[in-house]
Amino acid sequence: MSDSDTDSPENASLRTPIVAVLGHVDHGKTSLLDQIRGSAVIEGEAGAITQHIGATAVPLDVISAIAGDLVDPDDFDLPGLLFIDTPGHHSFTTLRSRGGNLADIAILVVDVNDGFQPQTIEALDILQRSQTPFIVAANKIDTVPGWNPTDDAPIKPTYDKQSDRVRGDLDERLYEIIGELSDEGFSADLYWRVQHFQRNIGVVPVSAMTGEGVPDLLTVMMGLSQRYMREEMEIDVAGPGVGTVLEVKDEKGFGATVDIVLYDGTIRTDDTIVVGGTTEPIVTDVRALLQPRPLAEIRTESRFERVEQVDAAAGIKVAAPDLADAMAGAPVRVVRDRDIDDVIEEVEAELAEIAVETEEQGVVVKADTLGSLEAMADACGEAEIPIVRAEVGDVAPRDISVASTAEDTKQQVILGFNVDVLDDAAERAEIDDVRLFTDDVIYQLVEGYEDFVEELERAQQ
Ligand code: GDP
Repeated sequence: MSDSDTDSPENASLRTPIVAVLGHVDHGKTSLLDQIRGSAVIEGEAGAITQHIGATAVPLDVISAIAGDLVDPDDFDLPGLLFIDTPGHHSFTTLRSRGGNLADIAILVVDVNDGFQPQTIEALDILQRSQTPFIVAANKIDTVPGWNPTDDAPIKPTYDKQSDRVRGDLDERLYEIIGELSDEGFSADLYWRVQHFQRNIGVVPVSAMTGEGVPDLLTVMMGLSQRYMREEMEIDVAGPGVGTVLEVKDEKGFGATVDIVLYDGTIRTDDTIVVGGTTEPIVTDVRALLQPRPLAEIRTESRFERVEQVDAAAGIKVAAPDLADAMAGAPVRVVRDRDIDDVIEEVEAELAEIAVETEEQGVVVKADTLGSLEAMADACGEAEIPIVRAEVGDVAPRDISVASTAEDTKQQVILGFNVDVLDDAAERAEIDDVRLFTDDVIYQLVEGYEDFVEELERAQQ
């Protein structure tokens, strides 16, 4: 502990850094998260793993147990790492917090055999724009010829410092990744030489299947967080909670609930909260804070267990009246001793920051979350595609009605990012001749639409 800590206010505390996992589809994001959770469960037998909704907390002592000699708990005062459970860049862009991204740090997963793919580049772009520090996990090293699972030494690419050459297949692939990062404007290096976090990106070779390299990855994440992020992690634990909605979900016995990540302060049962809604901020009282019950205890009872209070950073399910209109990606704020109108204003201001400007004429854009809606609007702006209506949610019949009234055929269109098309909407679209484009990669969605416009213009000539 440094001297400055003694000057901190009484309730000052350090929260857990929030980690997001990004990367191209099938490169191993889910497997990596499972591997981390799996190792954490094994190491944290005595219930050291806090159950969360939407996020998994891996405490420092568990990281230390996984990482062995690599992490000495005495060198750290951050409490551990909180991994957001839903991987992928659309969930990452969702995860807004006041003035930036919710994730403090990210893992970009790259399959060593497959290298950089469209979603890798898209994720890089998002990370760069949001200025989120990240580590590259070069995954699936177990599939590389010459990999020797019996070798119990920690994986270290056999970089020959003297001749400045790399040897072996794995090394070659790792250096390919480094080369690709450089092409994208990043300076990259293999992990043991990560010294200047602001400038260099660490590349950690891992296997999400065997777990090899995972201790190294956790070590690097923990070390970088402690060294470069400690100050940003200082919060007032007793302060009114501030968080972001991950998902709005109906739960049996509770009605509409929101899964949130709390990144500041605390939330308590009976707190009044303000939540960003599709039309206006929702003011409601917390009825229950719910954590998942350990698997062994689940019988006929609810899957959830009630808790009275949760401190940041944590994932939690909030049950409260009137949450049906809550919006994924929207802010949540506890009112507590403050003026309710001030809190509503804060929520409105945050929402306005992510609002999308619309035109008189244009296409309809739907997206799964506020953050992804904003990303879509940016992409449409760049491609000079005007938007008449932009909303969070699945494609519904009323979206078709709006699109069908466009004067221009190329605007009788719906662009849906990471959303479903409701059955009756699909039927309506066919009848009204509205074109539906859906994808979970933004630029593919935009390209698909541009191809359609090109074809249309060619046909009209
Ligand atoms: P995601 O789409 O990025 O979440 O990727 P998944 O975690 O679903 O993994 C995609 C596929 O790759 C699955 O069949 C995994 O079993 C496999 N996979 C993931 N990580 C590894 C790894 O380290 N080694 C090997 N051999 N296969 C892996």
